[in-house]
Amino acid sequence: MKDIPGLFGSMVFNDKVMKERLPKDTYRSLKRTMATGQHLNLDVANVVANAMKNWAIEKSATHFTHWFQPMTGITAEKHDSFISPSGEGTVIMEFSGKELVRGEPDASSFPSGGLRTTFEARGYTAWDPTSYAFVKDGTLYIPTAFCSYSGEALDKKTPLLRSMQAIDTQALRVLRFFGNEDVNKVITTVGPEQEYFLVDNELFKKRSDLLYCGRTLLGARPPKGQELEDHYFGAIKPKVAAFMKELEEELWKLGVLAKTKHNEVAPAQHELAPIFSTTNIATDHNQLTMELMKTIANRHGLSCLLHEKPFAGVNGSGKHNNWSISTDTGLNLLEPGDTPSQNAQFLLFLVAVIKAVDNYQDLLRVSVASAGNDHRLGANEAPPAIVSVFLGEELTEILEAIENDADYTDRPKKHMTIGVSALPHFPKDNTDRNRTSPFAFTGNKFEFRMPGSSFSIAGPNIVLNTIVAETLAQFADILEKSSDFKTDLNTLVRKTIRDHKRIVFNGNNYSEEWTKEAEKRGLLNLKTTPEALPCFVNAKNVDLFVKHGVFSGTEIHSRYEILLENYCKTIHIEALTMLDMIRGHVIPATVSYQYDLANAAITKKSLQTGLSVSIETNLLIKLSKLSDSLVNALEKIETSIIRMKNHQDTLETANFCQNVIIPDMQAIRIIADEIESLVGKKYWTLPTYGDLLYSI
Ligand code: ADP
Ligand code: MG
Repeated sequence: MKDIPGLFGSMVFNDKVMKERLPKDTYRSLKRTMATGQHLNLDVANVVANAMKNWAIEKSATHFTHWFQPMTGITAEKHDSFISPSGEGTVIMEFSGKELVRGEPDASSFPSGGLRTTFEARGYTAWDPTSYAFVKDGTLYIPTAFCSYSGEALDKKTPLLRSMQAIDTQALRVLRFFGNEDVNKVITTVGPEQEYFLVDNELFKKRSDLLYCGRTLLGARPPKGQELEDHYFGAIKPKVAAFMKELEEELWKLGVLAKTKHNEVAPAQHELAPIFSTTNIATDHNQLTMELMKTIANRHGLSCLLHEKPFAGVNGSGKHNNWSISTDTGLNLLEPGDTPSQNAQFLLFLVAVIKAVDNYQDLLRVSVASAGNDHRLGANEAPPAIVSVFLGEELTEILEAIENDADYTDRPKKHMTIGVSALPHFPKDNTDRNRTSPFAFTGNKFEFRMPGSSFSIAGPNIVLNTIVAETLAQFADILEKSSDFKTDLNTLVRKTIRDHKRIVFNGNNYSEEWTKEAEKRGLLNLKTTPEALPCFVNAKNVDLFVKHGVFSGTEIHSRYEILLENYCKTIHIEALTMLDMIRGHVIPATVSYQYDLANAAITKKSLQTGLSVSIETNLLIKLSKLSDSLVNALEKIETSIIRMKNHQDTLETANFCQNVIIPDMQAIRIIADEIESLVGKKYWTLPTYGDLLYSI
């Protein structure tokens, strides 16, 4: 039997290892740096680096790398070996404090959205000591932030750390009103549930759409989809089980708290959820999880698809971002308390989140915008593009009671005075019933369900942390001026509920009525990425990020530009790939099938026995008509792809992709899928949906 506790974290330079291997004063300085974010002096860094190197070498490491998260959405690394010449043709293994705390990768090839002009093409990486270093495949990985020399963030970690700082500052201000003298730090916690598909690796390689785009661009529906709902929580197949076992063990070695695994709704779809941790660590760990899923799948003859919508007509994959706020004393601030004073604190944080989500619906939508996720949001398998908050009936009633306390009418209504009345108990498991909500309160945390499966969770959490920090700042500003705390607190909570209750919706988010109702309530419905992204650079949102030191104005504009470009490039690649597949597979298949059908008809007729050729000719007529439509559709998209280049402005190009290229692709797909359903199996050279979804 495996010693799991012994295995867990065995490749991580964690607190236990530090305590064992660092001199006491070095350990203490390092811990102080981790807690306060202060600079580590070079003497201390040298000692830490040396201990890290010795430990890593014992784990068979020969190299080290500064591991960072550029705007590509995946992680980047450049490996350097520990070797250093020591005269007479020999080497020693060296690793200095300077090498630990700072690196200089060539930054010029990472997206910067025009932020980095060529003369300052260099960026640097800086160690994030709050996320542990680890050894993987013979390399010591050092989690780092990535900045330009002029100090602009070029990555996802830097603004995430800044947003954590912002919410820490503002939440502490609010907590002081309720006492809490012992609290020194407030952190946000995240548990991301990761969905993914597994398909046979040999089949995967035969489809250029999967290879280049991560999703299928063509494919007729198989006779069986997910309608029987027999996959969800079903027995895990042996091949998949072997993959999951290895994945879990590798993750555990790296200190990732992989906890739950199960089959998802769609055939070949699965989920892995970790136990939650601090936001930046959860983010690093989720990046590692996605990377390991891909490499380990390959070892098992499988391919892992992290795309939001690998198959049309089959549920896509998301990433539920479970989020909460807690203190360094271990108190979850979104956990309803038992005493009136704990209640008051809980309710203030609760309404802070509600107000934040209402005021910044647009930013939350921006944080989950991508070409891939557009296929999912609003497709009745994931929340709609309309952001709203689910609280559950019980909690909604409590908020109503609070709101109604002020303007009491003669109708009998429940009352609640914060800080005086105890919160009525509401059963927690009740709150999780609604699975259609984009942002659901689930007992002691919020579950943000819009992020796509391939996303870095940095983006959504940067937004969440910052918007809640802003609301808490506004609350603190008001309460700091108060001379009668209890009264002003009640007024504040009541007013917040009244002003922002429009964002609360407990019904079915997939229904058409909700779309209408949401519009009546004035909620945003930003259906696509090109519609959503421009909100990022709204004055209100720029002000928010600048105020809290999360992004500078320049950083926001560069990120906006990168996101738009990424959208356009994705659609462009998809269109070209589709053309390639039509020319390389669909046309040859239909032509050779038609050829054989025609020959069969001619041969039959030549026998002059009056045999019917209706099967052959009927199919020929259908396929011939479809071929004509295909030719027209191809001509159309070819022209569109050329026209795409006419646009100077990235937003214009993105809109063109949305309004012209995507419909062009849809038109082609409908024809190609119909051709597939008519063409004989032996002519069809692409693995079908049935092959892909039921191959394992
Ligand atoms: P479900 O599938 O019902 O949505 P899971 O149990 O699969 O729920 O996932 C819930 C996730 O929420 C887990 O990753 C869990 O660790 C996380 N979680 C629980 N408490 C918190 C918290 N206080 N902060 C952040 N995440 C949390
Ligand atoms: Mg969930």
